[in-house]
Amino acid sequence: MPNTVKKTRYVFILGSVLSGLGKGIVTVSIGKNLQVRGHDVQVCKIDPYLNLDAGTMNPTEHGETFVTQDGGELDVDFGHYERFLSINVSKKQNITTGQVYLNVIEKERRGDYLGQTVQVVPHVINEILRRVEEIDQNADTDVLLVEVGGTIGDIESYPFLEALRQLQRNHPEIEVCTVLLTYVPFPDHLSEHKTKPAQHSVRELRAAGIFPNIIVCRSDVSLTPKVISKIADFCDVPEHAVFDLPDLNNVFEAPQLLDNQGFGELVGKLLKLPAAQPEWTKMDKLVKYTLPNLDKKIVIGVPGKYTTLRDSYISVNEALKHAGWQMGYDVELQHINTEQFEKDEDFIKILDEVDGILVPGGFGDRGTEGKIKAIKYARENKIPFLGICLGFQLAVVEYTRNVIGIQDAHSTEMDSTTEFPIIDILPEQKNITNLGGTMRLGGYDITLTKNTTLAKLYNAIHINERHRHRYEVNPDLIEKINDGELKFTGFWNNLAETFELLGHPYFIGTQYHPEFKSTPWAPSAPYMGLIKAIIEKKNLKIKSEKKR
Ligand code: GLN
Repeated sequence: MPNTVKKTRYVFILGSVLSGLGKGIVTVSIGKNLQVRGHDVQVCKIDPYLNLDAGTMNPTEHGETFVTQDGGELDVDFGHYERFLSINVSKKQNITTGQVYLNVIEKERRGDYLGQTVQVVPHVINEILRRVEEIDQNADTDVLLVEVGGTIGDIESYPFLEALRQLQRNHPEIEVCTVLLTYVPFPDHLSEHKTKPAQHSVRELRAAGIFPNIIVCRSDVSLTPKVISKIADFCDVPEHAVFDLPDLNNVFEAPQLLDNQGFGELVGKLLKLPAAQPEWTKMDKLVKYTLPNLDKKIVIGVPGKYTTLRDSYISVNEALKHAGWQMGYDVELQHINTEQFEKDEDFIKILDEVDGILVPGGFGDRGTEGKIKAIKYARENKIPFLGICLGFQLAVVEYTRNVIGIQDAHSTEMDSTTEFPIIDILPEQKNITNLGGTMRLGGYDITLTKNTTLAKLYNAIHINERHRHRYEVNPDLIEKINDGELKFTGFWNNLAETFELLGHPYFIGTQYHPEFKSTPWAPSAPYMGLIKAIIEKKNLKIKSEKKR
């Protein structure tokens, strides 16, 4: 067994009874409680699925793929960690069953196990431990939060629980705090809380050799002191270690709601961290001043194809909201299935009801012509518009077709035989057959043209943003469309990264995904530009921080 654990403290976060209780919110709440007390945190997430990462998963089932600075294609939860905690997470901080087994099997094929029978115990467990410890080595942090995906009792989580048990056993010198999130139902016909599911899940966890220090309870109705005492009794934790997390208006309330019950102090004590007064001012500004005083005035239409699951475009949704909040407005999103534009000529008029349009990223042909129609409508009717990745590419196609007049122009992703492939696959992408992890991924340096709208919004000409795509504006054809109103204003080498349309209130596209770096405290520049253009167009006021 490798023995390389540093003196990092660990918090294990586990979920029980049912999925979807908000384990990620508990993780970031722990992180925030530690940060406001002056401690650095980093996060590791264990996903018991066999995929190597979330890159090949369907966004309508699993939510968006979040892209890290180092090019990881990860689960939506990583977006929550980065946004909420303002941290940069590496792709190595995600461990999946698939990665673990692939590595063990590759080692077996190489003969690294020297004739041993390769088994879950010890080989798979050791590989999990090796990965956790590698994260520990690389993450320069006081506390590592380790969130285990799935629910206690799932067959696939067991090797991970065993690894966490061993980690504690092999390293009695490190401080560990284990937090269990559970559900305490309040059935209407009984009108009382039932604690049995919580009791059973703790029993199951103990059987795996893991003993929770803290139990966070989700319930539709706040817990009474009597219920708290019962849970404490039957789950064998002190009463002050049982926390009530009811439904909230917004998730940003969670860290302080827990802290008001003594959460931050207890986590700090269990981790043997020096006691510190929490500094909640920055959080208070958002939770107590900005969010309760928003004007709900701005509606953004998001024509896309993944319209059935809210999480499919979650970073885009969040980035729009962050930009709105910064100026005192709530942003309402209207997700529109673009296939409707293709079926029904008049449906496009729905765009008269929105203040701005954002065409997000996407893959494949379905709904493409509908998106192009929406983009044309935004351009011709001077509706503030932002095109992201596929939205950027299709805006270039729309302009080439309808302004330059080359009707056959297209992206070779949708039409491999187009005579004017204004969007084409990168030469180095042509021979790639595997879909996972092979796109142009992660952060790249971009140079913006001086004095352009984007350079002003960023207040910089050298920027770095994240990418996830295979196709590009064709460098061989760019000159043929570049001397009209549409200007390419940002580049990485010879590849176009941004465009701006002259004579339009705001018609901007980015090949990159600026939403992945947006936080409530540092909104993304192109998103700010979109909201600002709408505010100006509607003659609204930008509300200053002071007045709020
Ligand atoms: N499908 C396009 C490409 O691969 C756009 C990808 C995206 O929008 N993320 O280039």
